[in-house]
Amino acid sequence: MAVFNHPSYDEHEQVMFCRDEASGLRAIIAVHNTRLGPAFGGCRMWNYHSDDEALTDVLRLSKGMTYKNALAGLAMGGGKAVIIADPANTHNREALFRAFGRFVNQLGGNYYSAEDVGTSPADIKIASEETPYVAGLEGKSGDPSPFTALGTYLGIKAAVKHKLGRDDLNGLKIAVQGIGHVGYHLCRHLHQDGAELVLTDIHQQSLAQVAKAFNAVTVAPQDIYRQEVDIYAPCALGATLNDTTLPLLKASIVAGCANNQLAEARHGEQLKQMGILYAPDYVINAGGIINVSYESNYDAAQATAHVERIYHTLLSIFQQADAQQKTTAEIADTMARHIINA
Ligand code: NAD
Repeated sequence: MAVFNHPSYDEHEQVMFCRDEASGLRAIIAVHNTRLGPAFGGCRMWNYHSDDEALTDVLRLSKGMTYKNALAGLAMGGGKAVIIADPANTHNREALFRAFGRFVNQLGGNYYSAEDVGTSPADIKIASEETPYVAGLEGKSGDPSPFTALGTYLGIKAAVKHKLGRDDLNGLKIAVQGIGHVGYHLCRHLHQDGAELVLTDIHQQSLAQVAKAFNAVTVAPQDIYRQEVDIYAPCALGATLNDTTLPLLKASIVAGCANNQLAEARHGEQLKQMGILYAPDYVINAGGIINVSYESNYDAAQATAHVERIYHTLLSIFQQADAQQKTTAEIADTMARHIINA
């Protein structure tokens, strides 16, 4: 397994491999760039098939955090952590997250952690008993997911405005892939606006409950791409825009909260050629980290107003992409690099 020569290494400042024998913790913490401030990014728990898969994921996610935080106007760098374990079958979370907290503490404030896929604010609360370098705690800024959902909802509205020339979502068909922490709140916003939802998730029970609450249709996970919808909203894991799925898409907009949606950069170009408007993932899903950035002196109104700026940032990216005949992902990357290197 290559580290410095890893295809996704991309100038990471620090990568820490963490092993705690007593709890069984195996984790990787990646700090991509701290030029704008200490690295912020959540901790994902996932049942990775290999260490290599976990390393690839954490490197891609932490770089994404650098770009996300820069473009969201935050004085924060980018980092991320992954714990290699099955979130559905982990019975010693207290010991795991205490051990994780001790490793985060060793970084001395160079990296701040929070919740992500497979982890919850309760897990981060446990880690906070071992380190002050965590965020998104109950009683402070709290669970970032509803704010990520709000930003994603506004991002979908920006995409609809640009692509379809409409200010409302009434009657639009939206396929949501993954109805977890963010996906659920996103469905709530979309349903309130009159959108017709097609949902999928690998957890059948929660899928049925959410579908009932929002009067939605459900489909099997593998069928979500081929739905006759206006918008495909990826809200599960990354790399769902790839050689296999792109030919299936009927939607004219891809806009969802998942990180690292493009399997490779070239898939952004392919979406453009297919006439599909893509809302760059790290721009549309910045709501949660924006809310977290207000944690030390929390003010919900200020945080919400900042999240609402995502709408205008995306509109500007869409307009520049059209004017320069570039992909929306290229425009976002250029804008982020400009801020980081200024
Ligand atoms: P979550 O774990 O609560 O939800 C993910 C959902 O996706 C789960 O219900 C899971 O069962 C489902 N899922 C997994 N694989 C699937 C598949 N193949 N098909 C259908 N469903 C599948 O996670 P979350 O916090 O809601 O985050 C969702 C995505 O948004 C992730 O990519 C995450 O990195 C990203 N994100 C989350 C936040 C946040 O505030 N939580 C912020 C920014 C980005």
